[in-house]
Amino acid sequence: MSKWTEPVEELVYQGRIKVPYTWSVGEVGSRFFSELRDNRKIFGKRCPACNKVLVPARKICGHCSRQTADWVEVKDEGTVLTFTVVRYPSDVQPLNPPFGYGVIRLDGADTGLTHLLYGSEPAKWRTGMRVKAVFKEKRAGNILDIAYFEPIIP
Ligand SMILES: [Zn+2]
Repeated sequence: MSKWTEPVEELVYQGRIKVPYTWSVGEVGSRFFSELRDNRKIFGKRCPACNKVLVPARKICGHCSRQTADWVEVKDEGTVLTFTVVRYPSDVQPLNPPFGYGVIRLDGADTGLTHLLYGSEPAKWRTGMRVKAVFKEKRAGNILDIAYFEPIIP
């Protein structure tokens, strides 16, 4: 046996670990996702201190750290604040390209919701364009119950 102070060959084992898990989305997340699943409605929560409507609904305001209060239904249409276009297929992407990832401020909300953009030619997309949520027919109670946001191109 060698002394502990002598250098050793460092071996590396290549492998993968599969770690299935579940966690509670909490009281606020449960209502938010239930409304998507059961009623195709999108809700935010209003902060009593700064008056912002946060979407997705959150228990704590990220702007002033106060507990949110009232539930507010927002529209399923909104404005794209920023976006990027995915043009190359990958096993990890949720849609076949071309599609986009966008930050959307829904009508009635004060924050941006990150989601998928799909359904028209990306060359026509612009910041500030209007989009509408397209819900899945079969919904499971998660953010992908909204399949994507479809640009409304005039
Ligand atoms: Zn606030």
